[in-house]
Amino acid sequence: MRLTLLGTQGWIPTQTRETTCFVVEDEGKLLVFDAGTGLGRLAAPPFRALVERSSEYHLFLTHYHLDHVCGLAYLPGIFPERRLVIHAPAEELTGIDPVRALDDLVRPPYNPRPWRDLSGLELAEIGAGVNAVAGHEIAVRSQAHSDTSVAYRLDDALVVATDTSADAATAAFASGAGVLLHEAWYVGDGPGSEVPGPLRKGYAAHSEALAVAGLAATAGVGRLVFIHLNPLQSEEEYATMATSARGVFAASEILRDGDTIPLGTT
Ligand SMILES: [Zn+2]
Ligand SMILES: [Zn+2]
Repeated sequence: MRLTLLGTQGWIPTQTRETTCFVVEDEGKLLVFDAGTGLGRLAAPPFRALVERSSEYHLFLTHYHLDHVCGLAYLPGIFPERRLVIHAPAEELTGIDPVRALDDLVRPPYNPRPWRDLSGLELAEIGAGVNAVAGHEIAVRSQAHSDTSVAYRLDDALVVATDTSADAATAAFASGAGVLLHEAWYVGDGPGSEVPGPLRKGYAAHSEALAVAGLAATAGVGRLVFIHLNPLQSEEEYATMATSARGVFAASEILRDGDTIPLGTT
């Protein structure tokens, strides 16, 4: 299996980073986590090849904030005449009925057609605990965010934990995983005067990098890659954040959109 980072930005796409989307290629199967603007990278080379050489497609949604689902509008262009299963968290996990959420998101006048009219799309609710999907064990848990999100664990290979405050329970959930993709919104004490007042509240719904590095160390993951980076910060600030995090957990890093990571098979 191989992981490709298609979108590592949070909230607002930038010149170099799209919003959240990660793809795992697994012998003809494509497992996509979140449908941010990064999903659009699958429309054209070189990432188009990931779709072309696969024959089974799954999309897992963490929550319904627009930076994670605006790519739902791209699906007819990216997966034409293909069957795609959208796995959305069950209401027991988030308090939100996934059928209603999708009905609300993909319908006129926001999209030309309701999702039910798009051929090849199928909605499957994914519940708490361990689910069998595409020959894998996919574990799911709820996370505290401004609206509840979920984290995913793919076998022992990968954990995706975004749009959450740093949570000790994530360390248990990610225990022994090969790769942990975890959001980091800031490093240190949190927003100061440089952040406009109305935005400061949002920081509590996101994670502090050193706390996340501590979770990675407790979990004993192979490597930690920060995702959902704050678009109001610069690449230089990201580099500083990663350097600080390595003081807590040595295998902490920030990669670029388009970078790939090999994943273990179990
Ligand atoms: Zn987000
Ligand atoms: Zn969010």
